[in-house]
Amino acid sequence: MSAAPSTIIEPFAIAHATLVTGDAESTTLDDMTVIIGANGRIEQVSPSLSTPIPSDYHMLDATGKTVMPGLINAHAHLFSGGKPINPKLATPTGQRRVAAFAHSPLGRPYIAAKARSSVMAQLCSGVTTLRTLGDVGYEAVALRDRIDAGELVGPRLLASGPLLAIPEGHGAPLIALVCPDEDAARANTLENISHGANAIKIAATGGVTDAQELGEAGSPQMTVEQMRAICDAAHESGVIVAAHAQSTEGVRRALLAGVDTIEHGAVLNDDLIELFLNNPNALRGWSALIPTLSAALPLLDVDQSVSGITDIQLENSRIVVAGMLEGARQAREAGLRVGVGTDAAMTFVTQYGTWRELDLLVKRGGFTAAEALHAATAVNAEILGVEDVTGSISTGRAADLLVVNGNPLEDLRVLEHPNLVVAAGHPIWRPDAKIKRIADLDEILDQTYAS
Ligand SMILES: [Zn+2]
Repeated sequence: MSAAPSTIIEPFAIAHATLVTGDAESTTLDDMTVIIGANGRIEQVSPSLSTPIPSDYHMLDATGKTVMPGLINAHAHLFSGGKPINPKLATPTGQRRVAAFAHSPLGRPYIAAKARSSVMAQLCSGVTTLRTLGDVGYEAVALRDRIDAGELVGPRLLASGPLLAIPEGHGAPLIALVCPDEDAARANTLENISHGANAIKIAATGGVTDAQELGEAGSPQMTVEQMRAICDAAHESGVIVAAHAQSTEGVRRALLAGVDTIEHGAVLNDDLIELFLNNPNALRGWSALIPTLSAALPLLDVDQSVSGITDIQLENSRIVVAGMLEGARQAREAGLRVGVGTDAAMTFVTQYGTWRELDLLVKRGGFTAAEALHAATAVNAEILGVEDVTGSISTGRAADLLVVNGNPLEDLRVLEHPNLVVAAGHPIWRPDAKIKRIADLDEILDQTYAS
């Protein structure tokens, strides 16, 4: 298939912008010009005064606007837009019905279309690199391949395919391959990688969404040996492994197995902090934490009559949410690598709300705005192993940029309405107008997190 005309890049320059570098020190440079080449990379970034723009390059005057690195969302699912999940579907029977539909000849195109619209919403909201962690099938892998082939403009995708869980464990049957033992764990990892997955996800513990009993949400599900088999198989292909872990013991087991990113997290202790910093079984000798406050906090902070979650989900939330928040604070203070992921598709987590995760890290997690921006750009790039390609605005890196009105260091909310998104040199014009927002959901979140 030949490349669609939309994927040809015309070189251009963004001139006279305020540049927020995305470091943790709030570095801001006034009147800067970024030159973007036809190869989709940054050719030059320097003061406008000393930066002549080649005559065959388009020039965008960004006076009064801020340019910053595109956001990286390290944890998303694509199968839903974030509306509260019908409690009836949270039952085992309901989940089996949804899974049967999703995997049927009728359901597969629906899931593929949903995935595409979710990825586009992420892109238009400023996310230029996205990791999926639990897909129905290989719909995210297929999208990534189309984007990489130049058939579609989209974010850089790290796609997991289905996650790996124990039989009837977290994520099964909708978005998981089940692993009764070590051999199955290894085989399913290789299955995902042979389908092109470049991320692997484990359900190390139960989860809030599908737990049927009190305490199930964080209770360990997969053994260290099973997770070790998964990590070994993935690491042999250079693929990092993420684990859903919502209890201290679940985090410990996943780290011991060699998991590279702990998703959600729990209260940490000194041994665990040391294991994050020096993890001999992780691909790069360390592990990172990706708290997902956007998915956790609203379950407690929004009234149950509005959220529609079940009593069991609410009680399990009470157990895991406090732990997640404490773990995020501890990780920040201990200097661990803390990344940004939203868990998009979960109840109240839209595909366009990455800015809300940054906002919650500041309002509830003790982060400064600069630290939150840093986590969502350079730190996330390092965690995902793409730091040579993206995560900062520098010569030779991909032109993954977000242009906003105003300064996000002063008000993160300016990220909600991007002025321009650039994905590997492809400008997305009027991105804000292309986002289909869920107004009532946004209103609930706005009211709940007004301060
Ligand atoms: Zn998730």
